[in-house]
Amino acid sequence: MTESPRKLAYLDTSRYGTDRKAGGTVYDAIVVGGGPSGSTAARALARAGYRTALVERGGRIKPCGGAIPPRAIEDFAIPHSQIKARIHSARMIAPSGKTVDMPIDNGYVGMVDREEFDEWLRERAALSGAERIAATFEGFEDATGAMRTVVLRRKGEDTERLRLSARLVIGADGAKSLVARLALPKQKPTPCVFAYHEIVESTGGENGIERNPDNRCDVYYQGRISPDFYGWVFPHGETTSIGTGTARKGYGLRKAVSDLRDASGYADARTIRREGAPIPLKPLKRWDDGRNVLLTGDAAGVVAPASGEGIYYALECGRMVADAGEKFLKTGNPKCLSAARREFLGDHGTVFAILGLLQGVWYRSDWLRERFVAICKDADVQRMTWESYMHKKLTRESPLAHGRILMQNIGHYFGWRTA
Ligand SMILES: Cc1cc2nc3c(=O)[nH]c(=O)nc-3n(C[C@H](O)[C@H](O)[C@H](O)COP(=O)(O)OP(=O)(O)OC[C@H]3O[C@@H](n4cnc5c(N)ncnc54)[C@H](O)[C@@H]3O)c2cc1C
Repeated sequence: MTESPRKLAYLDTSRYGTDRKAGGTVYDAIVVGGGPSGSTAARALARAGYRTALVERGGRIKPCGGAIPPRAIEDFAIPHSQIKARIHSARMIAPSGKTVDMPIDNGYVGMVDREEFDEWLRERAALSGAERIAATFEGFEDATGAMRTVVLRRKGEDTERLRLSARLVIGADGAKSLVARLALPKQKPTPCVFAYHEIVESTGGENGIERNPDNRCDVYYQGRISPDFYGWVFPHGETTSIGTGTARKGYGLRKAVSDLRDASGYADARTIRREGAPIPLKPLKRWDDGRNVLLTGDAAGVVAPASGEGIYYALECGRMVADAGEKFLKTGNPKCLSAARREFLGDHGTVFAILGLLQGVWYRSDWLRERFVAICKDADVQRMTWESYMHKKLTRESPLAHGRILMQNIGHYFGWRTA
């Protein structure tokens, strides 16, 4: 990986140095959070020649199934070495246990290992000129004037506090973002699904058997696994992620994953990690504070409803946020910041609305889930699903196919068609 900034405007040190008032270093942009979104935004700003800090607290692997579409791999130049497994088929499992296989004809779903992938993205941003800072964002200081000062805690032998200032702060610190809570305090928090998964060894058992030789993703639409989302078994080569999620407080996710491990043949697989995290399922109404703070990725709520797909959208949002940030840094006009949300919803708002509707309609009861899985048998439904997942474009199928699928949906919904 050899990356370098296109122009090194920040080498003009007369523009920078120490912010005497705040007593810290001055940047064009400080990005808080080095997940896919923050690293993408930091890389783009550094490549454009802006002095950029990328702050990441570290110490935890992001809990994630790690599935990404080919569009993410192409658009963000993800090397094949980061793809730990290629999935060519998914199996949908209905409450009754009936299954529908959905083979992918012209492509695959890529599986990344978030421990390696996130570090690789951060390092790529650093090679483009972003300065990596291993510290935890604690809050803002000095909310007046054009600069923002952030307070960071760095852990070493002694805990040290750093104060850094910037013309722009990007909050890429994930769901339940502290940057969002402090900079946009009036905003209603976005609804979340809490997801929990266990990472287990893929092979094992009595004779070291390969449990999923077809490298298939299994998706469980069963109320006992999740009352309002779904459960998954995603192979990653040597390891497999088995998880589920729900928005229902107090739901027994550990018990549900234990049931899922029994059902999928992983009951005795060696467990490597157990972890969980919230998944936001609705873009926030505002991503900027009207001055100099802008949110991206999970912090802005950009995860697709129904599927919980967030990596591609985090990368994409990071790119758009960096574009808007660049315009803001060039002009000093805070109105430029709101362009990121408009652009994102312009490109992906319709898909998010359709997926939101799909989740609201079909994930409500086992009776409906049974019918939802039955709809997935249809060849047109399968083709449209994979095309729009893989390429992030709504397919331009013939109106006849759309009409037929709509009628099928209505028929299944009202029980006129049997599952
Ligand atoms: C269990 C689970 C399974 C999932 N499976 C999939 C999947 O298969 N495919 C998919 O596309 N999406 C999946 N997602 C969603 C996906 O993981 C997220 O949407 C995506 O990681 C968002 O990227 P991000 O960069 O916005 O945030 P994150 O990846 O959450 O990154 C935020 C970063 O900020 C850092 N940070 C947080 N607070 C601070 C602070 N105060 N100071 C400094 N640093 C801080 C964190 O350490 C982290 O590195 C899953 C999510 C969960 C919870």
